Amino acid sequence: PPVPDVEALQHADVARLLPVPAAESDKYRRGVVGVVAGSARYPGAAVLAVAGALRGGAGAVRYVGPAGEAVLAHYPETLVHGGPPGKAGRVQAWVIGPGLGDTPGVEEVLDSDVPVLVDADGLRPLDPAAVRARSAPTVLTPHAGEAAALLGVAREEVEAARLDAVRELAGRYGATVLLKGSTTLVAAPDADVPVRANPTGTPWLATAGSGDVLSGLAGSLLAAGLRPRDAASVAAYLHGLAARRASRSAPIAAHDVASALPGAWRDVT
Ligand code: AMP
Ligand code: MG
Repeated sequence: PPVPDVEALQHADVARLLPVPAAESDKYRRGVVGVVAGSARYPGAAVLAVAGALRGGAGAVRYVGPAGEAVLAHYPETLVHGGPPGKAGRVQAWVIGPGLGDTPGVEEVLDSDVPVLVDADGLRPLDPAAVRARSAPTVLTPHAGEAAALLGVAREEVEAARLDAVRELAGRYGATVLLKGSTTLVAAPDADVPVRANPTGTPWLATAGSGDVLSGLAGSLLAAGLRPRDAASVAAYLHGLAARRASRSAPIAAHDVASALPGAWRDVT
């Protein structure tokens, strides 16, 4: 049978893919996520990305950046590091970009040999050759405006042809690309693989910081060992379910989405 262009994840697929800890698990086996995010101007983005990573089931989260104090005030379990990402100790997946402002650390993180998720400001300096040369998978999570900047076209052009845009980016960067929006799409670098459309979104997600939670969540699934396409599409699925759960008493803020992730997880498993 012909391969469909677009498919949707089902509840059962997500249940099967979610990393539930085994009896002999330890925090390292569950996955250590490194988060490079936040700035003096946007410390909250770091808090929200860390929240997504912790509520995504990571065994531990290492935070690298200038917002360590804010991160610790909300999540005392975070391992906070000064200095460059390379000195932070072993991580199984990196998340870089939310609220970064400037773009320190992007090259260094891309040089690592573990999966890397790049979002927000981390996408600005992104060179296709540098991403293609990586030995481990890369996941990019642009919204339409960020995707347009990467493609060098107007935002309207991306909005008018989202499926083409997400495929084009995945091919150009040799990366898994999650294009955010009212229907989030996930494309694999391999053109034969169907694009996944997320069925769980809600317009209540259109609120500042919700994308930062998603990047941490997807990073924790990468650190747990999910394949990049699965990590990205399962993250979008859970993120949407959590937002729907939280919006039983809406309006919601981004941190409500992070807090609702454990409940969304229970809804699926
Ligand atoms: P960001 O643009 O990085 O702040 O991320 C926004 C998040 O909210 C992404 O997960 C989007 O997919 C989601 N989102 C934004 N607008 C909508 C919408 N109208 N319907 C569903 N999800 C949305
Ligand atoms: Mg964003």
